[in-house]
Amino acid sequence: MKKIAIIGLGLIGSSIAHAARRGHLAAQIAGHDASADVLERARAIGFCDTLHADIGDAVKGAELVILCAPVGAYKSIAQAIAPHLAQGAILSDVGSVKSAVIRDVGPHVPKGVHFIPAHPIAGTEFSGPESGFASLFDGRWAILTPVPGSETRAVDRLKDFWLGLGSQVDVMDSGHHDLVLAITSHLPHLIAYNIVGTAHDLEQVTEGEVIKYSASGFRDFTRIAASDPTMWRDVFLNNRDAVLEVLGRFNEDLSQLQRAVRNGDGQVLFDWFTRTRAIRRAIIDIGQDTAAPNFGRLPFQLYVAPEPAKKKKRAKASKKSGKKPAAAKKKKSKTKKPARRARR
Ligand code: NAP
Repeated sequence: MKKIAIIGLGLIGSSIAHAARRGHLAAQIAGHDASADVLERARAIGFCDTLHADIGDAVKGAELVILCAPVGAYKSIAQAIAPHLAQGAILSDVGSVKSAVIRDVGPHVPKGVHFIPAHPIAGTEFSGPESGFASLFDGRWAILTPVPGSETRAVDRLKDFWLGLGSQVDVMDSGHHDLVLAITSHLPHLIAYNIVGTAHDLEQVTEGEVIKYSASGFRDFTRIAASDPTMWRDVFLNNRDAVLEVLGRFNEDLSQLQRAVRNGDGQVLFDWFTRTRAIRRAIIDIGQDTAAPNFGRLPFQLYVAPEPAKKKKRAKASKKSGKKPAAAKKKKSKTKKPARRARR
């Protein structure tokens, strides 16, 4: 393509730019973000060829425009870009919900522009332009949810684009997408936000032991519960019906497990856990996760405090010289790399 435009330069927008550059998918990658600070940071990283404070300038002449902002901003973005979209252009997005996007963006799409919503099932709990990387979509699914009347040729072009980013591509109806994602992504996030919030409340009762002993199941919930609050607020506001439907099912099943625990019904628990273990194996078998222990994470290095003997030596030396002891060098924080295989 000659020009693609990315609106919103956070985790997903910057990853698309990196991956598009890696795959030589566009001669020009134009970027826009509502935040001047994000634009400045994107400029410093350099994943776009051109950056535009004006959203109209960003999309002008683009063959493909991808909305990568939080879903709640899509309606106003669609209104702002509509007059500047080129005839024949494809307008797409990456939003985690699809029916609401069609509701909000659809009415503003000019005639002659192909509107094809999409959602990459790839992500991490990190946000912002620094968190993007070229391999984010490798081997992950991208789901396209064309609207009725979408031209096959345009859908195929978008499919090719996502294949070029490293994804596998599926096409489905937006309502079906929202139901599937409600159970595979939205509900798990709601549960994680809930369990971590409850644990935080319990901190007072347990005197800090919840955080201290979090190196078990709880820690994985905290990773999910660290996901961007704006993005996830918008997901729940915009996929309400599907989330409530699966939440109802979840509550029924939880009551069944609660009953089994109360009644000491080991068979029910054993059968249930055997079934869920098989699901985990199936996910590994289709290559969507690793079988390595601890999700293949590298062991992290703990901060090691300076030895007391050395501290004493330093203090002695400074006493001799009459100088104040030098402040301990600030250890560079070892920020862990984004969990590359996390899914949304
Ligand atoms: P992000 O890292 O927070 O990036 C979003 C960017 O959009 C931010 O730089 C934000 O600026 C900017 N923005 C906000 N309002 C805007 C507007 N009106 N016009 C232009 N830019 C605007 O979020 P993300 O994780 O990349 O998520 C972006 C989209 O991808 C969401 O729709 C989400 O549903 C979808 N998605 C996310 C994941 C995931 O794992 N994170 C996975 C699949 C799909 P400020 O920070 O200044 O507000």
